[in-house]
Amino acid sequence: MNDYSKITALYSRLSVGDEDRDGGESNSIQNQKKFLESYARQLKLTNIRHYIDDDESGRFFDRSAYSRMIEDVENGKIGVCIMKDMTRWGRDYLQVGNAMEIFRRNNVRFIAVNNGIDSEKPDTLEFAPFINIMSEWYAKDISKKVKTGIKTKGMSGKPIATEAPYGYVKDPDNKDFWLIDEEAAEIVRLIFRLFLDGKNRNQIAVYLKNEQIPTPTFYMKDRGRGTCKNKTLNEESRYKWNKATLTHILTRQEYCGDVVNFKTTKHFRDKRNHYVDRSQWQITENVHEPIIDRTDFENVQRILENAPVKRPNGDGEIHPLSGLLFCKDCGAKMHIRIDYRNGGKRHVAFCSEYHKGKARNPKCHSPHIMDADLLMQTVAEVLKKIAEYSISNRADFEALVKKCCSSD
Ligand SMILES: [Zn+2]
Repeated sequence: MNDYSKITALYSRLSVGDEDRDGGESNSIQNQKKFLESYARQLKLTNIRHYIDDDESGRFFDRSAYSRMIEDVENGKIGVCIMKDMTRWGRDYLQVGNAMEIFRRNNVRFIAVNNGIDSEKPDTLEFAPFINIMSEWYAKDISKKVKTGIKTKGMSGKPIATEAPYGYVKDPDNKDFWLIDEEAAEIVRLIFRLFLDGKNRNQIAVYLKNEQIPTPTFYMKDRGRGTCKNKTLNEESRYKWNKATLTHILTRQEYCGDVVNFKTTKHFRDKRNHYVDRSQWQITENVHEPIIDRTDFENVQRILENAPVKRPNGDGEIHPLSGLLFCKDCGAKMHIRIDYRNGGKRHVAFCSEYHKGKARNPKCHSPHIMDADLLMQTVAEVLKKIAEYSISNRADFEALVKKCCSSD
């Protein structure tokens, strides 16, 4: 149970590696504080006190706020300690272990929100020792942390995209607000008009090409904007409009003046965008001046709905082992595909080198097909054994980890 007379310690830390020291971003102290406060509120925890370290690196444990917090723990002043994730603590497994031991000894409930760790739920602690050792998990942590930070901003109805879409520009006085970029907005209106007049996307592409209208990519690049601003583009493509670009424009709800956040999410391992279900989009209506009338927009969506939506990456799902498997013969990455045969759903790993086919002279001569789900089970069993070992032979395990850490 929570002892309400005791302090709820909220620990925030900003290290150099967080890359958002200039404020406003995911791990800024301000965001961490807000995040922890709202979490504490959810748990109805009162008597909160912030412990904040803004330091160079998470490797040292003599930080002042941290030391003060541990002191308060030892003196029995603290009932609960919450931090955003274990890496706030530093990446030194042994030090983390010591700290957790101090918490346990003093009956302090410990919560690392983004790691799903809560000492009141013992099963969440099972894998806690690994979180700060496995670099892969660290990468995942970074990904999650950034997402949580972005979410705080996105929920407030502000656009989280770094760039305003074609047709808008960021307001120089308020970077969270978009203004109409009249020149591009006129093209957006033209595209909607042509489509509603019955032209299909291929016909519109031809029309825009004949009118010598630069594609959004070129338009943005010419103005030092967009994802290609630092890339050299092939001038021959300047007027090459295509169906995908037009579909993108015709389906952008932002043109009605809305802010739409969380349409895609990046997976930490493959860095690709995966679609998020529409129900989880965060839509705030009528934030900007509209370029397209809402009724027109809705009519366009109705017409488009007959055409299938192409997703860039299958069903948007990613296998936990994706990007981690390598062929034992040729060393190439193993890819994972989903096999829907016989009405089931299996994940199959295969050598990507072999898959290139004979014509491209693959180094590998076997697909090395294997059942990725079965492999996943095996990996889980091994991890469980390691966890059991670390608990029953704690000293041996710590020595082993120390040895591994110092040899690299
Ligand atoms: Zn191979």
